[in-house]
Amino acid sequence: MEHYHIAIIGAGPGGYVAAIHAAKSGLKVALIEKDKVGGACYNVGCIPSKIMLEHSKLVQEIRRGTDWGITVPTIDIDFPKLMQRKDAVVAELLDNIEGFIESAQITMYRGEASVTAERKVMVGEEALTADHVILATGSRPFVPPFKGIETANYYTTDTFFSIEKLPKQLTIIGGGVIAIEMAFALAPMGTKVTVLNHSQDILQTEEPDARPIIRQRMAQLGIELVTDFTFEEIRNDEIHTSKGVFTYENLLFATGRRPNTQIAEALELKMDGRLIAVNNHYETSIPSIFAIGDLVGGFQLAHSASAEGVHAVDYILGKHPRVINQQVIPRCVYTHPEIATFGMLEHEAPADAIVTKMYLPTNPKALLEGNIQGFMKFVASPEGDIYGACVVGDGATEMINAMLACKIAGGSVKDLARMVFPHPTVSEHIGDAARAVFGKAIHL
Ligand code: FAD
Repeated sequence: MEHYHIAIIGAGPGGYVAAIHAAKSGLKVALIEKDKVGGACYNVGCIPSKIMLEHSKLVQEIRRGTDWGITVPTIDIDFPKLMQRKDAVVAELLDNIEGFIESAQITMYRGEASVTAERKVMVGEEALTADHVILATGSRPFVPPFKGIETANYYTTDTFFSIEKLPKQLTIIGGGVIAIEMAFALAPMGTKVTVLNHSQDILQTEEPDARPIIRQRMAQLGIELVTDFTFEEIRNDEIHTSKGVFTYENLLFATGRRPNTQIAEALELKMDGRLIAVNNHYETSIPSIFAIGDLVGGFQLAHSASAEGVHAVDYILGKHPRVINQQVIPRCVYTHPEIATFGMLEHEAPADAIVTKMYLPTNPKALLEGNIQGFMKFVASPEGDIYGACVVGDGATEMINAMLACKIAGGSVKDLARMVFPHPTVSEHIGDAARAVFGKAIHL
């Protein structure tokens, strides 16, 4: 029976990154995957959704050309071609990951794994042992047990990215990041989208000031949004709610995810609600068995999973890594405009926090590009320490990194206020939002 320093179960962004980091740190590593490398993120999550969003962004840009005097007679969506491109991009990325795994000399096992408390891992008939095991089995879509759900024909994000035809109509149940991104992915291409979200508002975990901008853009794109109701039942293609009956041609549930904790149950690991309980170093209630990614608390994001995987490996190596600070984990929503945030939101900050918000229309580059829906926001201490930041706008998910780098390097808004940004750029507004903390913004 082969023995390893570390056996990692699941090759999503948590598991494969942990495996490569461990192997490059000199450990003998086994990586076990029952399906495709890349996990939910590459196969049915981050990447396919962003490819669709990129296509729909291009459609919106072509349409905007008409306002600028560039007329395109018709926009025809060759949906099968779009899906071929999605498949090709995903295949290339998976090939890359397979290549990185191979060149790091990781032993890959294909099949469903189970593990004992003594760290004996079974993959079908094969058995292996390891000094340490990292569980990285991720999560799966959750569909609420609505009355009549068995009569409905629906997609989840596990099945939606394999559709062959552009849906004429799509009803999305949910109001979180995935639901809203999917609405933005489809509506610009001509799908009539309805979003049914039973709570009071969409994107409730996100910056509240971003929500009206996104709602306004949804209305401009013809997305019907229904909020604040109770679900009664689903009857075939009818969704009965306290706000009336909605019929659908295609139905997508984007109602959250559940961790794949079957292994944890078999091991009788201590749980934290539905998640696996871990300490600050991602070690479970059984020493030398770790859990990371969507299995544990913190943000359920690909980059969180990867950071946790690297942390767990460094801890195993005895490197005493610093506890991951949730305040510097960026959260991104790839709508049009995008939302990117880290740290505290305004309502979470201490009472004496200073909040500044610079809207994009006064930024030359945003105006000349026609992307003026958005703002840059800092939540800072009176001395300028950055508690949190948010960017709403085209390219927000890239721009947030400048603010984050400053915070991670121990800088304050004073450093950003001093920084010379290239002109004209949208990100030069970061400098002005930083100066605004001290009442010295130039363009306000
Ligand atoms: P996963 O990616 O779920 O990988 C787990 C792997 O373990 C899978 O490959 C699975 O097959 C394997 N596995 C499970 N059980 C076993 C077993 N017993 N034996 C062997 N293998 C097993 N996050 C972002 O950061 N940015 C985004 O833009 C983003 N967009 C998203 C869009 C959608 C539509 C969805 C659904 C998710 C999105 N996410 C995004 C979330 C992100 O995909 C997850 O947070 C991330 O994939 C979690 O990584 P993981 O490694 O914990 O698990």
